[in-house]
Amino acid sequence: MFTSLPQGNWSDMTPPGPALYDAVLLDRDGTLVEDVPYNGDPEKVRPLPGAREALDRLRAAGLRLAVVTNQSGLARGYFTERQMHAVHARIEELLGPVDHWAICPHDDTDGCACRKPAPGLVHEAARALGTTPSRCVLVGDIGRDMAAALAAGATGILVPTPVTRPEEVDEAPAVARDLPGAVAEILRRDRAVRPVVPRPGRAGTVLVVRSDSAGDVLVTGPGIRAVAAGAERVVLLCGPRGRAAAELLPGVDELIEWRLPWIDGSPGPVDGEDMRRLTARLAAVGADEAVVFTSFHQSPLPLALLLRMAGVPRISAISDDYPGSLLDVRHRVPVGVPEPERALSLAAAAGFALPAGDEPALRLRADLPAPAVDLPAGGYLVVHPGSSAPARACPPERCAEIVAALAADGHRVLVTGGPAERELTARVAAAGGTDLGGATDLAGLARIVAGARCLVAGNTGPAHLAAAVGTPVVSLFAPTVPFGQWGPYRVPTVRLGDAGAACRDTRAAVCPVAGHPCLSGVDPARVVAAVRRLVPG
Ligand SMILES: [Zn+2]
Repeated sequence: MFTSLPQGNWSDMTPPGPALYDAVLLDRDGTLVEDVPYNGDPEKVRPLPGAREALDRLRAAGLRLAVVTNQSGLARGYFTERQMHAVHARIEELLGPVDHWAICPHDDTDGCACRKPAPGLVHEAARALGTTPSRCVLVGDIGRDMAAALAAGATGILVPTPVTRPEEVDEAPAVARDLPGAVAEILRRDRAVRPVVPRPGRAGTVLVVRSDSAGDVLVTGPGIRAVAAGAERVVLLCGPRGRAAAELLPGVDELIEWRLPWIDGSPGPVDGEDMRRLTARLAAVGADEAVVFTSFHQSPLPLALLLRMAGVPRISAISDDYPGSLLDVRHRVPVGVPEPERALSLAAAAGFALPAGDEPALRLRADLPAPAVDLPAGGYLVVHPGSSAPARACPPERCAEIVAALAADGHRVLVTGGPAERELTARVAAAGGTDLGGATDLAGLARIVAGARCLVAGNTGPAHLAAAVGTPVVSLFAPTVPFGQWGPYRVPTVRLGDAGAACRDTRAAVCPVAGHPCLSGVDPARVVAAVRRLVPG
């Protein structure tokens, strides 16, 4: 019984809700045209296969185009500016018009802010195109392109060539086979977050569900806001570990907290009486429909059964498993889509879109209480060493070295952690930071992070808090889950850690590899350099 949405379609108009992107930024050599080292000769311009058609698809979709390119041949005197402009004129002749050329004429010894992996060219191109980096996607063939995109808060898609190093492929937030493949992915992701069919009117009471921990709840925020924009009332069912984060989300009218044994990481036995009480509680909501958000490794179906038993008439969820009559809208999402877009795409499949002006980014309620601690005047950094899953935490001794290195570079460092992490934060802060372990609740931590120049943290809830308040993140990212799916969303980021370590894609909660090599090898000097890239001056 996969009943479809009410009649109507958007085929002759723009679907509702903000699109993900305004502009696509393209690397030049190796991405648009064959890489001819230090080319100053228009005759040697050779477009890569499918480039013209791919760019035309982007133009037709209303996306603006810029080229962002390092041309150190200028600094080295291998060609003149006039020759370079002739090359670019030839590229436009072959590939069509480009709205802006962002060019770094320096080489590595200049220490400029524009040479990729610095984010300067991305900022310049976004400004020139009348948008912001977070509404840009950058397509390039090497790690420098991806690093520049991330450091500006833009989306990155890598199109590897034979010269792309394997570790650059491992580290990339997304990988496409070639430029046409990257363009198809950009257009697919953009379409996926907007409903195909309009709703006839507002929904009544919608029960949204997101179990699991703080980070899971935070990345679902955009999807929940989309539902809230089209519903009279939103009731959120969350788990005990996500409760504090759920309280920070805009758009939620009521919370129900319940531990779901098919989601919880260390579940007790299923208790029939508890499930009967939950079913009765869900029935008491009187929901007109339910939208069940999950991670890619969780099943919505046990809860869908209880919702059916509670009499919820319409249920939407992502399920690869056959749902029988448990779901009305069975949505499918390819692997690797950022979690916030995954949630938005489910909301869209259920008929909900973000209202105009609400960016598809993480957000918190505007009325957060002030933290119960005094924050230092002037700038500070936050280092958050803990994680709910040990496999995603940088070893404490390495975190201490990072704090020491940041302090030695002149930074004021606050070390944060939950009440159960006081021993950890005391140990890490002793290296040169201020220990705030257990000093605040999650809302207080959000305020502390909001005031920081930068957060240094693993793949854990506070990284998503930082994304929600717009604070740049140095992400010490264990590759147990895909970075493109779980990295800080749409906020300036530097990714560190060994992306190709043996724990990659294991989803392990405890590191399965002796010595925890993905994070134990993070060089504190690289953290210092990452902070400099994200926080110039
Ligand atoms: Zn430069």
